[in-house]
Amino acid sequence: MTDLAALQVPGPIHEPLNAPFWEGVEAGVLRIQRCGACGASVFYPRPICPRCWSDALRWVEARGTGRLKSYSEIFKPGHPGWSPATPYLVGLVELTEGPVLMSHILAAGNAVAIGDALTFAPTDIGGRILPCFAKAGSETGREV
Ligand SMILES: [Zn+2]
Repeated sequence: MTDLAALQVPGPIHEPLNAPFWEGVEAGVLRIQRCGACGASVFYPRPICPRCWSDALRWVEARGTGRLKSYSEIFKPGHPGWSPATPYLVGLVELTEGPVLMSHILAAGNAVAIGDALTFAPTDIGGRILPCFAKAGSETGREV
């Protein structure tokens, strides 16, 4: 298996709006926003609720569980730094709370299926912790 921590890949853009998310990932916690006005769970980070336009969003800890909604096995990455890791999976994870996020899926392409249960597996990729997911019950991912 590829040493993901050694990859030379571009990282996420940190800004004040998404700081609680990235600080959570670094600490091994998946955070999403919840609307204090309508109760909607929100991801990606936003200044106002996409359902009711309230600005009463606050950060909450998500369960870190979800289902694989779709995925793609990447053979030709968009950045050459990912080449040593090919083929790898990128998937849409439908969180138990409802929002969908795109994530690296820590599994082989023939080991997953749409609908599989996934768990949050923060992983060192390129020297930074990124919010990956792995099949529920698997041992893949970083211990935090
Ligand atoms: Zn709302």
